[in-house]
Parts: sequence; structure tokens; C-alpha cells
Amino acid sequence: MEHYLADRTQLVDASGIRKVFALGATLKDPVNLSIGQPDFDVPQPVKEAAAQAIRNGQNRYSQTMGEASVLEQLRPRVEADTGWDRPQVMLTSGVSGGLLLAFMAMINPGDEVIVPDPYFVMYKHLVRMLGGTCVFVDSYPDFKLPVEKIAAAVTDKTKIIVLNSPSNPTGEIYSEQEIKAVAEIARQHDLILLSDEIYEMFCYEGEHLCVGRYYDKTMVLKGFGKSFGMTGWRLGYAACSERLKPLMEAMLMIQQYTFVCAPTPFQHALPTAMNHDMSDYVQVYREKRDLLYDGLKDAFTLHKPGGAFYMFARTPQRYACATDFVKEAISNNVLIIPGNVFSERDSHFRLCYTTSEAKIRQGVEILCRLAIG
Ligand code: PMP
Repeated sequence: MEHYLADRTQLVDASGIRKVFALGATLKDPVNLSIGQPDFDVPQPVKEAAAQAIRNGQNRYSQTMGEASVLEQLRPRVEADTGWDRPQVMLTSGVSGGLLLAFMAMINPGDEVIVPDPYFVMYKHLVRMLGGTCVFVDSYPDFKLPVEKIAAAVTDKTKIIVLNSPSNPTGEIYSEQEIKAVAEIARQHDLILLSDEIYEMFCYEGEHLCVGRYYDKTMVLKGFGKSFGMTGWRLGYAACSERLKPLMEAMLMIQQYTFVCAPTPFQHALPTAMNHDMSDYVQVYREKRDLLYDGLKDAFTLHKPGGAFYMFARTPQRYACATDFVKEAISNNVLIIPGNVFSERDSHFRLCYTTSEAKIRQGVEILCRLAIG
């Protein structure tokens, strides 16, 4: 290690996902099921609103918490989602920005954060870099919220339980009963629920349930990148009830000295985005989910996910681990991600279906062939 690098840089191993991308870059016209973002572009009126904001000179810093006019539109949405009166809302630089601020505002060295496994990778690395410890609770094989294991994992060092529904990488949506049970555990031990709801729009069975509705010490993080195909615009928001005002104030203070604000001209396009009907886009992904699931279900052990745009399938038994299977898939021109990128296990692989129907069919054909051997 170079002498000028901080120790924390050694705590992160990004090699798993990087290897897939490096291998993928060598393929010609691969079937790419590894992407992790929508394949549709930002709707035209939303692009126009951003371009107009730039032309109007709305290019300077906004307030730390975001443009007042945007926050005014967001607050009633948060009230409707959560039932909170006068919620605290701030715009963040993507959900990643919200995660960094929330963890920085709460984690002291030695603090424990309970995270259902499999999980979105960033939780593990951010918590580690801040000196905290992730306590993973296994949710295999059906990826439902492991309520009893969560209860058993609480110690006097636990501060936060992270929830992510719909989930990356499993696509699982937690039931109201499961969420209520975890909210009860949090209430009993006075913990914070950190609820990453970036995939809220992508719910294929029923309505999205905002965790904030069940517990007033929930920090809710939501995003715009996935919902409107604007992952590069770096926009999201954090919301909490008045009970957590000190936490929101701490996050604002950290934003002031880090990100400063979310990108201002893009903030100005949010009212247009929020009023744009995205239901056709969701329907397209519902159909792609069905296409991929129906194609794979006889050859693989996998659970039909209710949301997001991922599936997490078990590696065929004749491969020692997911990494071996993924290597084989990549050498057959299909890009997928091994489960150990999202998990303490390496038994599954993640597929993302934000690609064309033709590519999904091609991927299914190749993967099934590899499974049968
Ligand atoms: N949370 C989850 C569960 C995600 O999958 C992602 C993006 N892959 C993020 C947060 C980060 O989102 P953003 O681009 O808004 O920072």
C-alpha cells in the first residue's frame, strides 16, 4: 500500500464487480444482464425542463436542503407515503449521497448496523469505512425479511437496521407483516430504521409500502435516478418525521461541508418528472420480469421477485461457486454478477432485465444450456 493512502481504502474490495466489467469490455455485443440501471432515457419533457433551467441561469448552488419549490412538491408526497405531519425533507446527490450522509451522521467506531443478506454493496463499504460493523442476517433461500434473525442479532452496540424493499439484488418486496415486525424490534430497542426505497416505482404486485408509515424513527431514502432513467443526474431525497429532526440537521450540516447541494438545474426538472406518468415503463419491466422468470424457472432455482429489476438465482449444482458459473457465462457472452458481490455467500448470481426482449431471450437460451450442461 502506498504510504499516502488512508487505511480505510484497504477496507473496500471492489474487485468482484470490476472483474465482470473488465471481462465484459472484451466481449463483442454481449448479452448484458449485469447493468443495474434502466435502459430507457429520461422522458423528453423532463429533459426540456432541465435544459430550460440551464438556459434560465439556474446554475448556481441551491440551499443545502434543496430548492424550496421542489421541497414544497415533495412534502405532500412524503406525508401521503408515511402519514407524518410536517416531515423533514432534503434533496441529496442520489441515494448514495443520502446513504453517506445518514451513515456519517450516525455511525461511531464500533457501532453495529444490521443488514439483511444479500444486500446492496454500498451499505457494507460505507459502514466499514466509518469504523462501524455490518451484522449480516441471512435471508436465503426465499429472501423474505428474516425477522427472528434480526431480533436475535440486536446487541447493545446496534444502532441501525437497514431495509431495502424492493431489493437489490433479489427484487424481493417485504410484506406489511414483516415490516411491522421489524419496526417493533426497532421500537423495543430504540433503533433507527434506514429504509432505502430507491426502487419504489418498480412494484409489480400491489402498491409500494413506505417503511416510514410503520415507525417514526425511520430515515427514508428515495431516488429519482432509477425511476426516470436519470442515474447520471445524481438526485435523491431523504425524509424523516419530526422525531428525527436532529438527525436530519446533522445530515444537512454534513451536506453543507461535502456535497454542498444536489445538482441545481436538475433539481428544477423534478416537478416535471414527478408529474410524468411512468406506468407504461413499469409495465414494460413487469413483462420483462415475466419473460426472464418463465424462461429460467425450469432450469434454475429462483424465486419470482415482486419488484426492482433484478433476479437472484441459484447457481447450478455442478459449479463449485457462483464465481465459476459467472466466468463460464461470460465466456459464453452473457454478463451476470456473482452473488458474493452482494452477499457473504457465493451461491447465487444476479440478473438484471433492463435490456431488450431479444437479449433476454438470448440470455435465457444460453444460461439454460449452461445449467443443463
Ligand atoms: N440503493 C440501492 C439499493 C441501489 O441499487 C442503488 C444504485 N444501484 C443506490 C442505492 C444508489 O443510487 P443513486 O444512483 O441514486 O445514488
